[in-house]
Amino acid sequence: MDIRFKSFKIENLVRKKWKKIGLGDPENDWGKIPFSMIMPPPNANGSLHMGHALMLTIEDIFARYNRMRGKKVLWLPGFDHAGFETLVVFEKELEKKGLSRFDFEEKKLYKEIFKFVKEKIKEIRKQEEFLGISCSWKYEKFTLDKDIVNLVIKTFEKLKKDKLVEEGERLVNWCPKHQTAFSDLEVVLKEKDSFLYYIKYGPFTVATTRPETILADVGFAANPKDSRYSHFNKKIKFYHPILEKEVEFYFILDEGVDPNFGTGVLKITPGHDFFDFELAKKYNLPYIHIFDEKGRINLKDSIYYGLKKDEARKLILEKLKEKGLLEKIEPYKTYIPVCYKCETEIEPRPMKQWFLLVDKKFKLNKKLSKLVGKKEASLKEITKIAIEKDLIQFYPERFKKAILVWLENLKDWNISRQIVWGIKIPGSKDVFDTWFSSSQWPVITIKSFGRKLQKFYPTTIMETGYDILYFWVSRMIFMGLYLTGELPFKKVYLHGLLRDEKGQKMSKSKGNVINPLEVAQKYGIDSLRISFIMQTEAGKDVIISEKKFIGAQRFLNKVWNASRFIILNKKKFKDIKMNIKNDEDFKKLMEFKKEYLKLMEELKISIAFENLYKFFWFEFADKIIEKHKDKIYQKDKKSFYICFSILKELLKMLHPFMPFLTEYLWQELKEKKPLCYERI
Ligand SMILES: [Zn+2]
Repeated sequence: MDIRFKSFKIENLVRKKWKKIGLGDPENDWGKIPFSMIMPPPNANGSLHMGHALMLTIEDIFARYNRMRGKKVLWLPGFDHAGFETLVVFEKELEKKGLSRFDFEEKKLYKEIFKFVKEKIKEIRKQEEFLGISCSWKYEKFTLDKDIVNLVIKTFEKLKKDKLVEEGERLVNWCPKHQTAFSDLEVVLKEKDSFLYYIKYGPFTVATTRPETILADVGFAANPKDSRYSHFNKKIKFYHPILEKEVEFYFILDEGVDPNFGTGVLKITPGHDFFDFELAKKYNLPYIHIFDEKGRINLKDSIYYGLKKDEARKLILEKLKEKGLLEKIEPYKTYIPVCYKCETEIEPRPMKQWFLLVDKKFKLNKKLSKLVGKKEASLKEITKIAIEKDLIQFYPERFKKAILVWLENLKDWNISRQIVWGIKIPGSKDVFDTWFSSSQWPVITIKSFGRKLQKFYPTTIMETGYDILYFWVSRMIFMGLYLTGELPFKKVYLHGLLRDEKGQKMSKSKGNVINPLEVAQKYGIDSLRISFIMQTEAGKDVIISEKKFIGAQRFLNKVWNASRFIILNKKKFKDIKMNIKNDEDFKKLMEFKKEYLKLMEELKISIAFENLYKFFWFEFADKIIEKHKDKIYQKDKKSFYICFSILKELLKMLHPFMPFLTEYLWQELKEKKPLCYERI
């Protein structure tokens, strides 16, 4: 045994050993009770980053601990084709070559992306294997595997049969650069210095930030309590200053109109504004498609046809000014919706899309009906009831409230995307939103293996980042409930975001990104893992720094040195067995272990590890070994046996956190069974 601990050398030996014994296959576990986790599938469009390494570490701790506690562990890995996200990455590659996705014929483009993604999958899998995680490799799934695609389509057909999806023309969020629709979650609000234009328009003055949309107005609206306007007729005839013809507009009185905005009169553009679109639906007004897919004026008979919005706005403002109809212009700070990827302003447009109806009631099957205590309910309701009844435990608990608040405001989900990369919607040109397949992931991955993995559903823990609570976790809950009548998981553990020493989020532009594989090579994989766990509870952001890696390495050295002392002295003693139950140090250890098990069951892994760290260093190494050292040199059996037994217990408890070093030391202790299969 080397005097100094060399992580790289032992990692290679241990990794080979785990591979040889088939670690990760639930069939090889000695336990009987199923324990399952579905790994959040990394997007197959890049390489493994720090966020993945953090996620894999936490999940590996859960997997290893439960395996050692006598569970049969399925930890199902996979990859996500990541629809639009991958397309953006791929487009950047094309841009480097001076190309665009619109230069390709669809089939060819799909094939090219598929090739790219397959390469990325290979790369990430290699990196995951390098990290030595104990997932169930043989059950790996990709969102575009044939059986998975078939199951996704089956889900869609079922939703169709239950009338929970509907194809209809509705206003959707549209990015003119990427030329696809988005769900509400993919739109972000950005502060913008804009102007409010006051325009004399028919019998009113209206205020608007988008004067060019005047081309697609169909009416006016005011609040019924607003005495300035409540006497107006339902229809108003006037000469339209921009269309330059006589028009008849609707005049609507609706509670939703804010009397304090502008002049209190709203111009209604249902073809471009979500509020106006709802008004139009409510009062049966027509709507006009003002913009095309590239964000240009789409009105064929208009002199503005084909112009970009800014060009049209300029001309329209000039004309209004000429006619003396531009009353005033005020500076106006506003929030505009932009594409979350390219920050292009979202131009809503009416489109025929598939929507998942979250408020529509449907007949619940027996299982589901029993679970929520209703015969009929909507997807939103079943989710709400399941969460309110605490059928899922959230770690940390505050996310339970967050998800309930979010559910209240949830609207129908647009699941159509106008890109080639994804699963084709049957009978449509479009593909499903990538989150549509993700939302079914726990159900369909397990189902794709037939009855073989059935016992692992519902899964035990869903571990993921809190940043995708709404995108993913919430949707998995309602889809799981809908498809199986059961929750897809019993516990949700949400980890935080990674930050640097100064507390800043890691990003390429800040230049503070750390590559996990470089850290693993320099300080060892166990050091990287420990750095993730120290001082990080569920839901809290994770600070990562050089200092932490060095601190972790010091602890590993401490464990190495203390273990080495026992290992080297072991030769002097032949197969001792003694009763040390009443020894005070051993008793102290057993008390400690009780607390450790409690913390681990409560998923308080960070506290559990920090306690272990302290116990190993300050109790075991500093006190217990010191106390017995001289006696061990004098070949005192009992002294040796106490230290030896305590070390073994500590290595077992440490194993989920720092598996490489502990497995290696276990081997040096000449134990027959690999440590990963020992019982804690
Ligand atoms: Zn965009």
